[in-house]
Amino acid sequence: MAPHTTLTLVVAIDGPSGSGKSSVARRVAAARGLAYLDTGAMYRAVTFAVLDRGVDPTDSAAVAQVSADLVLESGTEPDSPWVHVDGTDVGTKIRGQAVTSAVSAVSAVPEVRQRMAAMQRSIVQSAVGEGRGIVVEGRDIGTVVLPEADVKIFLVADASVRANRRARQDAERDGSPSISSVEVRSELERRDQADQSRDVSPLRPAQDAVVVDATSLTLVQVVARVLELADAAAVLELQ
Ligand code: C5P
Repeated sequence: MAPHTTLTLVVAIDGPSGSGKSSVARRVAAARGLAYLDTGAMYRAVTFAVLDRGVDPTDSAAVAQVSADLVLESGTEPDSPWVHVDGTDVGTKIRGQAVTSAVSAVSAVPEVRQRMAAMQRSIVQSAVGEGRGIVVEGRDIGTVVLPEADVKIFLVADASVRANRRARQDAERDGSPSISSVEVRSELERRDQADQSRDVSPLRPAQDAVVVDATSLTLVQVVARVLELADAAAVLELQ
């Protein structure tokens, strides 16, 4: 039987776009009764608000202002994640091409990162305060947002595998592919490059992260590996 991991276990899953973080994080959380937070959805929601208000995503001061003004709320159930901006569900709109193209510029703005990180820590504290652990996925969770996380995973996969996965997900969601997998790959590599080279909280593995390469693993195998690490950490926590 799986150990009781729900107490206060905090699992951070970081990695580049399309490595499968969301699928893995949601399944791990559901399997162990943990809460779940998609921090990428939060940056996407800010980006949606920026575009919706007609603000230039490269105008850092204006972007910082939008992020300071908006009311952002995130659900934490792995089976039904949601994100609201000013009380409106933006879950579908944040996955569109316009948001995907602009999100790296918005997420590089230091004031946006400060606000998101503070919100993310507070969501984690609430879950843990209620006696429920949480799986948090993003780019800087193990390095900056939750450096004390019990388990840190850095999930990677070859760019071609990630691009194919993203193109499939887009096609499933939109009915037909809006852009080709070659375009998906170049978009994904552009975003990784921007996320890795920004000044504040760049995408990189924490020193104590376990790097999991999903290139030749199935989703079930990756989930099993993360559960193994989470269960081992939970046992340590109980000792
Ligand atoms: O995970 P997802 O692809 O939805 O993330 C969208 C974007 O949000 C990333 O490309 C990155 O620019 C930003 N992000 C971030 N820090 C996080 C999560 C996402 O900068 N913790």
